[in-house]
Formats: sequence, structure tokens, C-alpha cells
Amino acid sequence: MIRDLQLRLTPECAYNSTKLKTIIAKELNILFNDITGYRIIKRSIDARQRQVMVNLSVKVFINQPVDTTPMYDKILYPDVTNSPQVIVVGAGPAGLFASLRLIELGLKPIVLERGKDVDSRRVDMANIARKGIVDSESNYCFGEGGAGAYSDGKLYTRSKKRGSVDKILAVFHAHGASDDILIDAHPHIGTDKLPDVIKAIRRQIIKSGGEVHFECKVTDLLVSDDKINGVKTTSGTIYNGPVILATGHSARDIYYKLNSLGVTLEPKGIAIGVRLEHPQHLIDCIQYHSPNGRGKYLPAAEYSMLTRVDGRAVYSFCMCPGGFIIPAASGTNQQVVNGMSPSNRGTKWSNSGMVVEVLPEDLSEYDQYGVLKVMKFQETIEKRYYEESNGSQNAPAQRMLDFVNGKESKDLPQTSYAPGIHPARIDKLLPDFISHRLRKGFAEFGKKSRGFLTNEATLIGAETRTSSPIRIPRDSMTLQHIEISGLFPCGEGAGYAGGIVSAAIDGERCADAVANYLSKCNTDSNCGIL
Ligand SMILES: Cc1cc2nc3c(=O)[nH]c(=O)nc-3n(C[C@H](O)[C@H](O)[C@H](O)COP(=O)(O)OP(=O)(O)OC[C@H]3O[C@@H](n4cnc5c(N)ncnc54)[C@H](O)[C@@H]3O)c2cc1C
Repeated sequence: MIRDLQLRLTPECAYNSTKLKTIIAKELNILFNDITGYRIIKRSIDARQRQVMVNLSVKVFINQPVDTTPMYDKILYPDVTNSPQVIVVGAGPAGLFASLRLIELGLKPIVLERGKDVDSRRVDMANIARKGIVDSESNYCFGEGGAGAYSDGKLYTRSKKRGSVDKILAVFHAHGASDDILIDAHPHIGTDKLPDVIKAIRRQIIKSGGEVHFECKVTDLLVSDDKINGVKTTSGTIYNGPVILATGHSARDIYYKLNSLGVTLEPKGIAIGVRLEHPQHLIDCIQYHSPNGRGKYLPAAEYSMLTRVDGRAVYSFCMCPGGFIIPAASGTNQQVVNGMSPSNRGTKWSNSGMVVEVLPEDLSEYDQYGVLKVMKFQETIEKRYYEESNGSQNAPAQRMLDFVNGKESKDLPQTSYAPGIHPARIDKLLPDFISHRLRKGFAEFGKKSRGFLTNEATLIGAETRTSSPIRIPRDSMTLQHIEISGLFPCGEGAGYAGGIVSAAIDGERCADAVANYLSKCNTDSNCGIL
């Protein structure tokens, strides 16, 4: 017999299998030994009350073998070696999931990625941390796996399309991510595990007859008569076919190129601020309401902060419990920080972006740059931080209370940020319309969450790559650019996603749209079918 059970347990009972089995037997009024096994279907932590509880949804197998079939049907990837080809620019989550979906639909993806494969990228990232050298083709933003490859690998999204989210999680799982991502309310993979999952996705694409080309930067889009025929790369090679453009929010050269070609673009709001680093133990104490921290069973605590100050949102972004702050510049003359964490979220630090919403109308002094104005503002902030640091990746930093009180910090706490930090007036490096909102936001967060506003925490600048500063507008039905047929702007860089899962969902949607587009083309309509 199989029974479904909802349980609300202390962490000690929820994470200890013998204790959990004893509770299940008691709840179902059966013998301990009659339980052949159980499967946890969903798990979430409720830390709202003093006693932290874990909610479990469990399937119990009584006197019958445990059903170990995967929770999702296996996806079949046919051989597409001789199928019509589709050009996918960018091997981030949007490009990779678009490619897998194209294969499912019987189409051949040709993936063109400017950066290196996910292993070779490591050397270039180490060079940023150790020598301050940023390779503008291979860094934390560019390379196989995209911006999400060396991240926390948080897989939660505000998307309400449960079916689409579950499919993305199932694909990650099928390519090696742990069972936990199918169970946890806030799933994450971790920076140590993500590269293997990405390599498994690449192997699947190639095994099915698709192609993946690294160090293959797209430098031109071949557009004529409002239709795209293909793309040209740095080596001069031309690839023909419909194009899924999934180049991410940091590919500024692509925005410049599109703008120079006269392709319609729109400025888009972003959020800008700092990375805030606390000792993880402090966050555990606050979030789990215990002076002893998280104890033996609970994971490193998370938080999420949001308020509005003078008409703009102030919020925490991409929180990484037990993680590191990393240098995320993707070009010269930039200083940018971001965060990541390993699968065990085991470092002694917690970090999050603390950012203020910036809308195009806030930047009238950048009007001269037209649709590129928000991106120009982003560039200006990154350059200001870089110059303040004498052209290094050693970042300006200020203790949190000192920031709120407008004081330079005399000294700074230890940090996870490998290139190091130095005291600076972050409140002055940021424009006042951001600084003053952050200051008020911090004061409010400190009231809501006692202990959060503290000089044990450090602000490290600058957090600027929160989303795309530009939207590449597309038709809501066909997902093609509003003026160029065969061009499918996709993922975060096109302004249609924010985060790994939503970028992956958008990749799948674009693949469906390309299949639809190609199915409508007959042999002499020249849709770019090869
Ligand atoms: C350090 C860090 C940590 C993050 N942590 C998380 C997290 O935990 N959870 C989460 O949901 N999100 C996280 N994000 C955000 C997330 O990574 C992005 O939202 C997501 O990767 C966007 O996917 P994408 O495919 O649209 O674009 P990207 O991932 O940016 O991929 C774009 C790809 O296109 C390539 N490219 C660009 N230009 C060209 C060109 N001209 N020719 C060929 N290739 C090109 C780039 O090299 C890149 O590989 C993090 C981001 C960073 C930087």
C-alpha cells in the first residue's frame, strides 16, 4: 500500500531518517518494520516562529517495494544530425535549454559561444581574482554555462508557471543535479556541482547531432529585407539559419551592434547598489531566532528584504548563504561584484546584492545616449569604482552602519572577496539618489530584523549586473523581433528573463517559437532552412 502524508516536524526529526520513520509509523498507526521506505516529495522550512519547523510531503510505501521511478518522464532527444539547423548565440541557460528543446522538436542547434568551455573558464576567473586581469571573452559572465555557471545555482523563480519550472528542474536533474532540487522549496545546485551538469547538457547536444562551438564570438547579424539570414563570427565564418539570440545582459557589444544596424531597442530599468556581506552565523541567529545559530540540522539561513523608499524599490537580490563575493567584471575598466556559493553553503559568510531600482526616467542626464542610456549609466558606475581602486579589482568597502551614518570605516572585517577590499566612501561613490534610498532601506531592514544593521557587515561595491539595461522587443505571439523575422531575442539579455530558471524557460519558449516559424515556411519562402 502507498500512503501520502503531510508532516510538520522539528529539524531534528525531519532530517534524521530513523526518527522520521518512527513518526511516520506513529502517524499512520502501523508497525515501524511495515514501512519498506518513503520518498520525500516536497520540503520547506518555516522559520517564522521561534521554533523553526520543517514541512514535509511524504509518500510512504507499506509492505511493498519502494517505487524508485524518476518523478518526471525521461525526455527523449532524437538524432538531429540531418535536421534543419537553428543558430543559437550564447551557451547560457537560455541558449542551452533552447538547444535541448530544439532537439526534442527535431531541429539541429548550432551553438556559438564567445567564451571557453566551462573547465577552461576557471583559469581566467582565477586570473581575475589573483592578478586583477579580466579577459573580456572569458570571465564570470562569458563562457559555457553563461553567467549562471559559477553562481549559487539558485533555481527559484517568481514564475507562476509551475509546469514550466518543473520541466526545467527535471532537465537539470536528468543531467546530474541532485534529487534535492526536485524536493526543496528553495532548490539550489552550487558552484561546485553546476559545471558537471553543464558539461552533461553539452554532451547531450553533441550526442544528438547538434554542434557547440567555443571561442566563437558572433560579430555581425546578417539582416536583409527585415529578415535575418544568419550570423558572422570573429573568424569570418558565416552560419545560416534562424537565430536565437541569447547573449545575456553583459554582451554590450551586441547591443552596440544592434543599435548601429538600426534594430529597434528599448531602454529598461535595472537595479544598482552594493554586495552586503554578514557573518553567516549572525544571519543564522537572526533568521532562526537562536543565539546558537542554525544548529546541527538546518541549512545556512537565507533572507529576503524589500521596501520602497521615495517611490523606488530597495531590496536584497541573489542572496548567497554560506557563499563568496566574486569579481564579475566582463571587460576592462570595470569593477563589478556578484555572489556565489558551493552546494554545502558552508563558508562563514553570507552575501546578497542590496540594490535600488533605477528607471530610465531617473537618468535624464544620460538622454543623449538614447536607448543605450541605462547601459551607459551602468558603465559609468563600474568605471568610477574601477578608477577609485586605481585600476584594480580590490574593491571599495564600507561597514554597514558607517554607510548609514555617512562615515568612512577606519578598518574593515575579514571578507570572502578574494581580490581584497579597502575602506572607501561607498555612500559617495554611488549617486545620491541611490545612496540615500539604500541608507533609508537599511535602517528599515534593521528595524524589521534586529541585528541585521550592524558594523559587523560590510558593503562592497558595485553591484550593477542585476538585469538587462535594454530590451530587444519581440512579438508576444511569434517571439520574433518586432521588425526582423527569423530573429528570436531570448533570455535575460533580451529583457525577458531574470535568473537561471526563467532564462531556461524563455529558451524553451524560443525553441518552440522557432519550430512554429519553420513549420510555416514552405520550401520557396526562404525562411533560412538549411
Ligand atoms: C556570479 C553570478 C551569480 C548568479 N547567481 C544566480 C543564481 O544563483 N540563481 C539565478 O537564478 N541566477 C543567478 N545569476 C543570474 C543568472 O546567471 C542569469 O540570470 C542567467 O545566466 C541568464 O541566462 P542567459 O542565458 O539569458 O544569459 P547568460 O547566462 O548571460 O548567457 C549568455 C551567454 O552568451 C554568450 N555571448 C555573449 N555575447 C556573445 C556573442 N557575441 N557571441 C557568442 N556568444 C556570446 C556569453 O558568453 C554567455 O555565455 C547569477 C549571475 C552571476 C553573474
